[in-house]
Amino acid sequence: MTVRVRYAPSPTGLQHIGGVRTALFNYLFARANGGRFVLRIEDTDRERYSQAALQDIYDTFAWLGVSWDEGPDCGGPYGPYFQSQRLDRYRRAADTLLQEEKAYECFCSAKRLAGLRSEGARDGVVGYDRHCRALNEQQRSSYRAQGITPVVRLKIPDQGAAAFDDMLLNTVKRKCKDLSPDPIILKSDGFPTYHLANVVDDHEMEISHVLRAQEWLSSTPLHILLYEALQYEPPRYCHLPFVTGKDGQKLSKRHGATSVIEFRKQGYLPEALINYIALLGWSYDDSREYFSLAELEKVFSAEKLNKAPAVFDYKKLEWFNGNYIRESSDERVLELIRPYLQAARFIPKDADTAEAGVVRAAIPLVKERLKTLSEAPGLLRFLFEDVTGAYNAEELVPKEMDAAGTKTILLAVRPLIAAQDDYDGEALEAEFRALADRHNTKLGNVMMPLRVAVTGSRSSPPLVGSLRLLGTERALQRVDAAIAKL
Ligand code: GLU
Ligand code: ZN
Repeated sequence: MTVRVRYAPSPTGLQHIGGVRTALFNYLFARANGGRFVLRIEDTDRERYSQAALQDIYDTFAWLGVSWDEGPDCGGPYGPYFQSQRLDRYRRAADTLLQEEKAYECFCSAKRLAGLRSEGARDGVVGYDRHCRALNEQQRSSYRAQGITPVVRLKIPDQGAAAFDDMLLNTVKRKCKDLSPDPIILKSDGFPTYHLANVVDDHEMEISHVLRAQEWLSSTPLHILLYEALQYEPPRYCHLPFVTGKDGQKLSKRHGATSVIEFRKQGYLPEALINYIALLGWSYDDSREYFSLAELEKVFSAEKLNKAPAVFDYKKLEWFNGNYIRESSDERVLELIRPYLQAARFIPKDADTAEAGVVRAAIPLVKERLKTLSEAPGLLRFLFEDVTGAYNAEELVPKEMDAAGTKTILLAVRPLIAAQDDYDGEALEAEFRALADRHNTKLGNVMMPLRVAVTGSRSSPPLVGSLRLLGTERALQRVDAAIAKL
């Protein structure tokens, strides 16, 4: 059997972690099994359709480096890949079900249905009361003569069950009498509902496996009934575990960023997101968790999927991101942080400038510290702006010292800096250490005031490197400014 899988987003909002996880697992499953990965756009909900959301699908996966073998943008033998262009197929399937009396037309008015819903809410009954299931042809004709266009509803059998064998959850079985009766499969405007379109397309596109979020599990019994009614063979289902925040609640805006575009803006690398998202409900073994996309394509296997909810840990993602930044070449990091420095107006928009040269020299220093690219302007501000106004005197003073003692230290540091020309890290640090000894204090109590004086902040790139980049003249000016504050 050829493996054919699909990602079937509805273009109604931005691509988020959960959707990308679904797409990624399908993609990896196809790659690992020599199969095909299809993008199908489920755009039958015209009210919630958004062109920007469609564009976001293309942009997100292009950026992540995940591509499909068939889809609306690249075509393929099973097209069209927009559901809105496949209405004739859904109509045909609905007609077959009508002819075989597995479905029926419903002419109920919106008012009647609303009344049913409120009665149902009162009496704890869900679903339609099957009023139109008993209409005869004469009654139907008379409705039609009044100009009423019906919807099509699927007959949920009174008896029996819908069962399927989930790759992860094993046998899932729901009694028909527990399913909400007689759902609409085709609306009066000729558009299908999600259920019909999803089933018809998975069948016609010869989808072999459906890996999708557990949010859809409650719809699957209905899909199974549709497959039976249409005499299609269902695909293998695999319902992926929920993605939650640390509190165990479904991941949402309350927890932090969820859309890929937000992570991208904050300065996450695509490799880091891919690597981390791959671990949301899947693991290779107990130790290895560092994978490139190419490696994942080889080692991914559905047997290693987990049932337990996957906890999204923002700190862990940050940790991955820091690692991927450190592993990137200096040239790449320069390209990656350039837009952030431009946005902060540290370097001009046009290409290669003297400022960019300064940044290039700073890359080895900041690379070690960055967790996200958007932290770069904060770390490098001291090179582009006079930071002497950015802190007040207290910040210069270490915990175990007072202002006078701090001033003494900075006065003693000054000639050491004035004498530098090569800023040999080890040599200068040894001098700082000796100075600390002479003043009966710790190295940190020398470095800290100097760091604040020079960079305006207690957290900065490594100090000696920062001094070297800043140059002796500017470094001394800043030390003097700090001394003056004390
Ligand atoms: N259109 C559905 C979604 O937005 C597809 C669910 C499925 O994979 O069947 O996720
Ligand atoms: Zn009706």
